Amino acid sequence: MAVSEPPRNVLWHEGWYRLARAVPSPNHGLRPPGQVIDLVILHSISLPPGRYGGDEIERFFTNTLDWAAHPYFETLRGLEVSAHFVVQRDGGLLQFVSCERRAWHAGRSSFQGRDNCNDFSIGIELEGLEGEAFAPIQYRTLVTLLRDLRAIYPVAHVTGHEHVAPGRKSDPGPAFDWAGLQAALGWPAVCFALSPT
Ligand SMILES: [Zn+2]
Repeated sequence: MAVSEPPRNVLWHEGWYRLARAVPSPNHGLRPPGQVIDLVILHSISLPPGRYGGDEIERFFTNTLDWAAHPYFETLRGLEVSAHFVVQRDGGLLQFVSCERRAWHAGRSSFQGRDNCNDFSIGIELEGLEGEAFAPIQYRTLVTLLRDLRAIYPVAHVTGHEHVAPGRKSDPGPAFDWAGLQAALGWPAVCFALSPT
């Protein structure tokens, strides 16, 4: 064989992860041509805050949330956002946007001098509340997902929304176990850039 095929990972198809339940969102766009995807940004979300297990996050990311159903939802009215993945409280995994596409999760942001993090990142939301511990099974799902992402994308760093938008965002928050995530993955500490610079 003169030419070897690129490694084919059966877990992925056109940026969709076969171990996630696909919930396609209209909220995405093109990444810049030739863009290397080398950053993962972790977030936390619950709708309404602190309530888990409903379908409100799915609805929010697919523009079908009933804004009138809860006073908190009114504060989100009209927003069109998304993330590539949501790790539910019970460890379930949803995917809203192909990793090949640009999801709308980080907003105004900067990582190590590079602005517009949505261009070059994958966004993962953990169902949770800033300051409240995440469920152990959520970390297990997250670790598996991160390993499988790194099999097809050159993920160099995993960081938090609070680190790429300091002062504006504070998720996933102080209860997120960065040391535990690093230990579980076995990746070098330099992969986890925690301080806003
Ligand atoms: Zn966030």
